[in-house]
Amino acid sequence: MSSSVIDLVATEARFGAHNYEPIGAVLSRGEGVWVWDIEGNRYLDCLSAYSAVSQGHCHPKILAAMVEQAQRLTLTSRAFHNDQLALFYEEIAALTGSHKVLPMNSGAEAVESAIKSVRKWGYEVKGVPDGQAEIIVCANNFHGRTLGIVGFSTDPETRTHFGPFAPGFKIIPFGDAAALEDAITPNTVAFLVEPIQDEAGVIIPPAGYFTEVRQLCTANNVMLVLDEIQTGLGRTGKLLAEQHEGIEADVTLLGKALSGGFYPVSAVLSNNEVLGTLRPGQHGSTFGGNPLACAVARAAIRVLVEEGMIENAARQGARFLEGLKDIRANTIREVRGRGLMLAVELHPEAGRARRYCEALQGKGILAKDTHEHTIRIAPPLVITSDQVDWALERLATTLTQDLS
Ligand SMILES: *Cc1c(COP(=O)(O)O)cnc(C)c1O
Repeated sequence: MSSSVIDLVATEARFGAHNYEPIGAVLSRGEGVWVWDIEGNRYLDCLSAYSAVSQGHCHPKILAAMVEQAQRLTLTSRAFHNDQLALFYEEIAALTGSHKVLPMNSGAEAVESAIKSVRKWGYEVKGVPDGQAEIIVCANNFHGRTLGIVGFSTDPETRTHFGPFAPGFKIIPFGDAAALEDAITPNTVAFLVEPIQDEAGVIIPPAGYFTEVRQLCTANNVMLVLDEIQTGLGRTGKLLAEQHEGIEADVTLLGKALSGGFYPVSAVLSNNEVLGTLRPGQHGSTFGGNPLACAVARAAIRVLVEEGMIENAARQGARFLEGLKDIRANTIREVRGRGLMLAVELHPEAGRARRYCEALQGKGILAKDTHEHTIRIAPPLVITSDQVDWALERLATTLTQDLS
């Protein structure tokens, strides 16, 4: 490593809170599926900023929209109208079949906003006694890092010493519809769940689970809130992961790829009832729905659709998964995935997944470990067959090594 890499890493460590443990490379440039570090080494990005850069790094059309808008108007606050918000609403609603949209910034804010909205709906529409609303969530969930959210996490690292936490959440196992049925009471306002638990290691629920979940929610007048912040916008090979089971959520949360990685943009999408309960002054965000965010998001969803990225995710995801399954390595316990949301789970004896991610970096691939033994693979949705094969070759040589 040159001294400047060492300097930058050391400076980060000296001044920054140590709430991340980055892998070596110091990145300074990105284009499509590739990123370059400051020494000029090229890597295939197999994390895509947790799916925020699904459209590929620095997509030229999103960049152009951002620059054009930034030169005209960036922020008005919602105290005044802006000429991008209505168009963003119209386009995202048409794309997803939603009736109402609430624009926010980070994913966690979208989750918090959904929690507030479904509670309000519960009191004002469903008739739950004030202060009694219950929301059901799943074990091993990941919905973000705010206090409200980490309070219903089951991961000790995520919650320890951050309490006290807000009441009103019930935790059930993921993928178990009977547990949902048992947990629902007359005060249940919502079931908040990820279609696939990505942070937990790409945990795909049993087929038919969401069909049953949908029926239970409908039968009990419980809002089904799907956190599609990572699974949404093509990542799993469909626009929304809910489409794999042909269901529709009452509330859908989007973030990450909603801006193609240029800017934090998130949104709560709902039927008329849930977001319809919000009145002026009851919720807001200084930056939410600003013209720059709206222009960027409009371009990000346009290129996703127009450039066939969703279909490509399905096609290349299938190729990648098949290729991973063909790797004969004693280190591999299981390979799983849907679309371009993939994971290789290692046998505990194979050593920490991080060691393999560091080895992959040496071969020109950036991937992220999760939960000790799992390597997540989620390249931008613009990846080509040749690039998939290139990655598979390197994964095969790395995973057949013993790095325990
Ligand atoms: C990333 C993520 C969030 C939180 O998004 P932030 O923008 O980091 O606040 C919430 N839910 C899921 C499923 C996510 O992957």
